[in-house]
Amino acid sequence: MTDRVELERRAEELREQLHEASYWYYVRDAPRISDAEYDRLLRELRVLERDHPELYRPDSPTTRVGAEPTEQFEKVRHLAPMLSLDNAFDTDELRAWERRNARISSEVRDAGYMAELKIDGAAVSLLYEDGVLVRGATRGNGLLGEAVTVNLRTISDIPLRLRSKADIPVPPRFEVRGEVYMTLSGFETLNEQRTAEGLPTFANPRNAAAGSLRQLDPRITASRPLRFFGFQVQLDPTTGRELPLRTQAEVLDTLLAWGVPVNPVRAVCADLDRVIDFASTAESSRAELDYEIDGVVVKVLPLPLWDELGVVGEREPRWAIAYKFAPDLVTTRLEAIRINVGRTGSLNPYAVLEPVQIGGATVRLATLHNFEDVSRKDLREGDMVLVKRAGDVIPQVVAAMTQERSGAEQPFVPPDRCPACDSDLEQPADEVMVYCPNSSCPARIYWGLVHFVSRGAMDIRGLGERTVQQLLDMGLVKDFADLYYLTEEDLLRLDGFGQVSARNLLASIQASKDQPLSRLLVALGIRHVGIHAAQIIARAFGNMETLLEAEQEQIAALHGVGETTAAALYAFLRDPRNRDLIERLRRAGLKLREPVERAATQPFAGLTFVLTGTLPTLSRTAAKSFIEERGGRVAGSVSGKTDYLVAGEGPGSKADRAAELGIPQITEVELLELAERNESPD
Ligand code: NAD
Repeated sequence: MTDRVELERRAEELREQLHEASYWYYVRDAPRISDAEYDRLLRELRVLERDHPELYRPDSPTTRVGAEPTEQFEKVRHLAPMLSLDNAFDTDELRAWERRNARISSEVRDAGYMAELKIDGAAVSLLYEDGVLVRGATRGNGLLGEAVTVNLRTISDIPLRLRSKADIPVPPRFEVRGEVYMTLSGFETLNEQRTAEGLPTFANPRNAAAGSLRQLDPRITASRPLRFFGFQVQLDPTTGRELPLRTQAEVLDTLLAWGVPVNPVRAVCADLDRVIDFASTAESSRAELDYEIDGVVVKVLPLPLWDELGVVGEREPRWAIAYKFAPDLVTTRLEAIRINVGRTGSLNPYAVLEPVQIGGATVRLATLHNFEDVSRKDLREGDMVLVKRAGDVIPQVVAAMTQERSGAEQPFVPPDRCPACDSDLEQPADEVMVYCPNSSCPARIYWGLVHFVSRGAMDIRGLGERTVQQLLDMGLVKDFADLYYLTEEDLLRLDGFGQVSARNLLASIQASKDQPLSRLLVALGIRHVGIHAAQIIARAFGNMETLLEAEQEQIAALHGVGETTAAALYAFLRDPRNRDLIERLRRAGLKLREPVERAATQPFAGLTFVLTGTLPTLSRTAAKSFIEERGGRVAGSVSGKTDYLVAGEGPGSKADRAAELGIPQITEVELLELAERNESPD
């Protein structure tokens, strides 16, 4: 009996939570919980209702699609219900879906599938009469939507009149169904503007798109970066006419021929294995798209099977399923804002989060970039925040959910002194970063050493962060050069070190003395001197002695090295403390030479590259000359002849095109690695 009461109570609690979440999500366009959390609660309720049918209520969120249309707009009835989709969160669930369908129709397994990207936007239906857009509506509760025709007409992607030149004539009265979405770049700009105007920001592009559609003033909708993709044709059931189309692939081609934009990233798949391949490629390249996708929609290919499979309770078709990616955007609490002083002295704010799962990993910390970013996003300790992590990218705090505030959250006040050494801070005029200028700041020395020994720098294996900390704490090391004067006895005093590990570490310190000059320039952590500039400089001057004699103009004159880099390097080399450090490194036996390049290697001979987005360190011109100097070609647009797309932040349509053609996309680091790999003799 108590069990039953307990189950009743839980079901009611879930219904209540889900209704409340839907209200904030669909009606107010300002979600209060993450989608992953919503899906989890919905699932729990479904399982409860399945195992205990007596708990089911007619108003259960498991029966409904979306939310009731609001009073603001005229309510209109769709030609046929607009449905939601069932979800599969892993391959087992996807295969279970096929098995269930195969029990209804044995043809399913051999029929093939259409795999499409699941656009994370707002579903709409567009009613065309004699090829002219006469009405457009939101999905609403599935049966009744809100007429937002004037707003939809402002979206330039949506045809006001369909093309009549296609092979298949446009039906006299029918709906095009699809998704209105907001571009990611447009979403960021919109939120920046809203912050500047003191308005609450949108939680994500989906809510921004839905909110933009439901404006009473169409000029507001027109000012928002909205786009549209169509994916379904709904004929008027009262006219009873059919189109001569047999598959979903033909539907999409026909929509395109009628002038409706259709997402180019799609594939006809012979079986679920192919679907899974398509989905994993889509998931790994989702960061390249300028819009959000949250999975792949898998549809049974032949349309006649759709009728046979039918719909579950007016809510979800059996012929389609949303195969969802692991969520990369979640909500959690921002417990504290802390600051880390980096090796260049930059003060790097970061977020301590209530631990949360994103894309299969537990995230506790996220970068906050700089103080300006924290104040632009108005992040406060105690805020509920949206955190994003795509692929291997460091987690980032996207926005604060300002409507969730209780009033107890504290605005963040940036410090005016270094949190590690209490020095006065400096902010160069043209930079957003704030710096601790004290080169003996303990935090700077620690991170400087960690960087010095790291793989991209002197590559001293066996010297981890803990050992670096111990060496500093025990006073065995005060700067980089001290590393080269360590003895076996010194190392044996460290925790966890025995004779073998001490000797191994000494051997790798010894081996690092042969690192080329370019690596040392990187290891020294001179501001603006990255590996690319360091290589150009080291190759030009050949050894440290000559470089120490160089004038600033000589360094700046090198192709691919900017004024800022030259000035920073020159200032560093002029500083007597640094000269002393270099001298001690030389005496310790470091080679300080750049090996002569092998005769005219052309690692990129015969390869064509296309550049898109902003690369982290190379400017467009620098990237172009880097490739051309190595025998490669840089083309302006992606075509079948392109070998690699080098993509930075904010890639444009070139990334979509490359994905479509299956052209590999690489980052700046991968470009440099590719050059190194192709250069090496084996
Ligand atoms: P859904 O968004 O998961 O999937 C159905 C929709 O996908 C369709 O309506 C369609 O518009 C869209 N879609 C995109 N691309 C498509 C394509 N190529 N083919 C077919 N359809 C395509 O389902 P839903 O019913 O709109 O909403 C459920 C989603 O909303 C869940 O992800 C849930 O987490 C979220 N939600 C969140 C909250 C919250 O509080 N965070 C509340 C309610 C719902």
